[in-house]
Amino acid sequence: MDKGLIFDIRRYSVHDGPGIRTTVFFKGCPLNCLWCHNPESIGFDPQNIRRVRNLNGRSCMVDEVVGKTATVDDVMREILKDRLFFEESGGGVTFSGGEPLAQPAFLNALLEQCAGAGLHTALDTSGYAPPEVFLQSCSRADVLLFDIKSANREKHIRHAGVDNVPLIDNLLALTGDGPCIYIRVPVIPGFNNTPGDMLAIAEIAGRIRARVEGVDLLPFHRLGRQKYEALSMVLPPAYGPDITDGEMDELMHVFSAAGFRVKKGG
Ligand code: SF4
Repeated sequence: MDKGLIFDIRRYSVHDGPGIRTTVFFKGCPLNCLWCHNPESIGFDPQNIRRVRNLNGRSCMVDEVVGKTATVDDVMREILKDRLFFEESGGGVTFSGGEPLAQPAFLNALLEQCAGAGLHTALDTSGYAPPEVFLQSCSRADVLLFDIKSANREKHIRHAGVDNVPLIDNLLALTGDGPCIYIRVPVIPGFNNTPGDMLAIAEIAGRIRARVEGVDLLPFHRLGRQKYEALSMVLPPAYGPDITDGEMDELMHVFSAAGFRVKKGG
């Protein structure tokens, strides 16, 4: 497939893998996390969104479309503009979403083109894909940013919309050669913010310990909530209260005590 649906290409990211990165956001996600702060990433079609824009010095509401079809060549042209930043910072390209594995042919074509151009690649995924699709794309990436939201199956179904067992099975199948792995955990108050939740995730990561470079805990924020209204989507229930620095330190300690390098991500 030489084209796919994306909703953004963001430059100069320092939170999506090593160095300075350009992140390509695929549109469409089979999960439906109630805390999702990129709700425009969930739907598999372009969507209308109301945005505030500055027109001739005045703030105005304008209707725009989020999501556009792009060819592999279109995306590569944008990526290659940033080659100098990648070279100077040890960075590269990150494919995120949404869920990049939901458009595997487009993703694989981009991973191959990046490899051919000598660019470092990272794949940011929930792991939701048939096992053969997951392994095939992983084998083409340099780094895997694997999101684990909860080890608890029932909670995962209720809050993220899908069973977590196939996702975790995919992760645990990464036993041979392949990308180094960073486990990324969004820390959501009232959902997974207890040491017990983190311990259960650390136990999963421990089963592929040799492949795991580190763990990033990503603090919850509410920045995306106004987007639901702008997209005419139903506003999900609020999570809260916010997690304090002390609580975050306690959760990070669970991973460091289990022998993982851990940091607070952006
Ligand atoms: S996996 Fe990520 S993009 Fe998909 S719904 Fe959950 S938070 Fe949103």
